[in-house]
Amino acid sequence: MLRSTGSRTCSFRKSNNDPCRATPMRDGRFCFWHDPDHVQDAAEARRLGGLRRRREKTIEGAYEFKGLGSVEGISRILEIAVYDTLGLENSIARSRALAYLAQTALRALEVGELEERLALLQASIDSNPEPAGSVFDRPAYVPDYEMIGDN
Ligand SMILES: [Zn+2]
Repeated sequence: MLRSTGSRTCSFRKSNNDPCRATPMRDGRFCFWHDPDHVQDAAEARRLGGLRRRREKTIEGAYEFKGLGSVEGISRILEIAVYDTLGLENSIARSRALAYLAQTALRALEVGELEERLALLQASIDSNPEPAGSVFDRPAYVPDYEMIGDN
């Protein structure tokens, strides 16, 4: 179930006549985006959203930053922070910040290395599929002991 508020949905119909499906404003028939009383607010919110997206794209390009969704992205943000911190005047606080950034970078490198190892293991498993049956189904290896003094 998507909504817990029951069956109330926005009365707006899209150009293809599909309903909007958003939750309407309290005591209203339309959601925030389609309420005729909030046309200016909705336009302003859209404008600010567009500005924000453009600004993010600009910053993303300037810093060659692709987000925090990968070890690479996390490493990049740490690099930026290290360069910015190194550019500050020397102080105990700067040294502490650099030590913290180095610790965090070390963890990111460890996770990155683990990811690489897992990928190699997975590739190895994929290219060498296990022969039929599990290793647990094979006959057990029984060592051939020679009993001392047994002859
Ligand atoms: Zn709506």
